[in-house]
Amino acid sequence: MSTQSTPAASGRPAAPSTLITGIGSLVTNDTAYGTGPLGLLADAAVVIDGGTVAWVGPAGSAPAADERFDAGGRALLPGFVDSHAHLVFAGDRTAEFNARMSGQAYSAGGIRTTVAATRAASDAELDANLARFVREALHQGTTTIECKSGYGLTVEDEARALRIAAGHTPETTYLGAHVVAPEYADDPAGYVDLVTGEMLDACAPYARWVDVFCENGAFDGDQARAVLTAGVERGLTPRVHANQLSYGPGVQLAVELGAASADHCTHLTDEDVAALAGSATVATLLPGAEFSTRAPYPDARRLLAAGATVALSTDCNPGSSFTSSMAFCVAVAVREMGMTPDEAVHSATAGGARALRRTDVGLIAPGARADLLLLDAPSHVHLAYRPGVPLTAAVWRGGVREL
Ligand SMILES: [Zn+2]
Repeated sequence: MSTQSTPAASGRPAAPSTLITGIGSLVTNDTAYGTGPLGLLADAAVVIDGGTVAWVGPAGSAPAADERFDAGGRALLPGFVDSHAHLVFAGDRTAEFNARMSGQAYSAGGIRTTVAATRAASDAELDANLARFVREALHQGTTTIECKSGYGLTVEDEARALRIAAGHTPETTYLGAHVVAPEYADDPAGYVDLVTGEMLDACAPYARWVDVFCENGAFDGDQARAVLTAGVERGLTPRVHANQLSYGPGVQLAVELGAASADHCTHLTDEDVAALAGSATVATLLPGAEFSTRAPYPDARRLLAAGATVALSTDCNPGSSFTSSMAFCVAVAVREMGMTPDEAVHSATAGGARALRRTDVGLIAPGARADLLLLDAPSHVHLAYRPGVPLTAAVWRGGVREL
């Protein structure tokens, strides 16, 4: 699903350029254009042209454009970059959530419930479900979203999940190593052979990334290394579900293998924090998971103090974090994880872009994709200050006004 306008290819006249002016507070995430890490600029304007940002600066010196949009003093941000989501699935796990909120503990095993429902679903059902979630996220300001496989766990079902996902986002992740498939319950080594062999062959053409759930009850350090190394050999870049439920080797493995991100990072030793801080591996925090499992939140303050790059993402999935709202994650990160509103918004935009190794999203600067979120509020701080309140006033994706 590309929304990049291609007037030359279609033979239609070029899309008009648009001046967005009257921006009360502009988050650029580019220090060349404003103050602080958010590159904040008051009374600003932005010109978008041909799917990208063409100009950023004070409203008083904005150039002319074909069309004009008055932001009315409201805040404009880069669209959210949600770098961690599991959206190709069928069914839901309401009963499991209800039981957990009534006192039962969370374990990785619940994933198998969704595996059974997903395998039984048609391609059309899975595609429609995914489209619904991408749209739902867009309505909340998310303009880039990553999507993992991992609810098929057979060669055919993993490949079809990625084929379907690739129709909606370029950020597709092969997660055959989500849990050991039920057919291999007594032969986990055999399942790792499948994931690193025939299943990888079938999935690699549709995937950009390779991921593994490195956790007790899922895959240990040696198995995770085998999965990630095999993916790298097929041209995929690693990212790791690491240190979510317990201390473990996931973060160190992610850093060692040059993973784009280590995701969850809830249980970290000092050595884990130092490894992240000294690397290009982003620490992606997923507060929706702790919220929805009543688990302790990761310590964002500790990571930021050490100098690690932090991203915030939803982990949207039917089991442990069934939210597509980045604004919710921002609010929880501020209230529960020690982040300032500026840090949380930066992590939900520029941080997510870093976690996906994208330089064209997560910022508003000339040449960036025109992925923009206009808030129905005068400041990005309202994302945490007014939790649970729908604040999306308008969204542009690739320069196209979507909402
Ligand atoms: Zn996840």
